[in-house]
Amino acid sequence: MKKFLLSLLLGLLNKFVISIVFNIASPIVFAFISKFSTGDWFKLLHNPLIDCIFGLLLVWFVASFVYKILLLRKNNRASNSDMFRFGGETIGPLSYKEVIWRIKGDRDHKGFVIQRSLYADTPAMCPKCRTELEEYKKILGSYKWKCIDCGFEKINKNNFYFEAGRAEKIARRDAENAWKLFKMQERDNY
Ligand SMILES: [Zn+2]
Repeated sequence: MKKFLLSLLLGLLNKFVISIVFNIASPIVFAFISKFSTGDWFKLLHNPLIDCIFGLLLVWFVASFVYKILLLRKNNRASNSDMFRFGGETIGPLSYKEVIWRIKGDRDHKGFVIQRSLYADTPAMCPKCRTELEEYKKILGSYKWKCIDCGFEKINKNNFYFEAGRAEKIARRDAENAWKLFKMQERDNY
């Protein structure tokens, strides 16, 4: 029952355009009904019950509008990272957001990691058994990561693609630091 109500609510939040139509159409419809039943265009519109309906429609419109903006922002953020990257060799695992990311990239002819080639492969892996995780969208916009083998579960605010973008930044920073360290050691050896 609770699940049904939630999905009904979410369905209503998704009907942004329909909520606009209802908000525009209902005063017109009620004005016509008022005109034909009472002879006055506005008489029925002063009825508290009708005003309640208008109020609810307005709340629906505002809620679905806010929901739409939140959804758009979320999608924009997700598409900012390079979503479909492939190739390169596995450089190493990176622990981030309590799961394991496979950092991939290329090396130069000396065997050094090319920092800008690094990216985090998706999906992330289970921290316990290294199985690739599955991702499910939760009803309120967060995500559930689940291991099909050992049952590991984690709720995360953002999806794999978004977090992969952040794991990539951390990997690039680490590569940069390793490079600096190597350069320092090289200088000391001379
Ligand atoms: Zn597992």
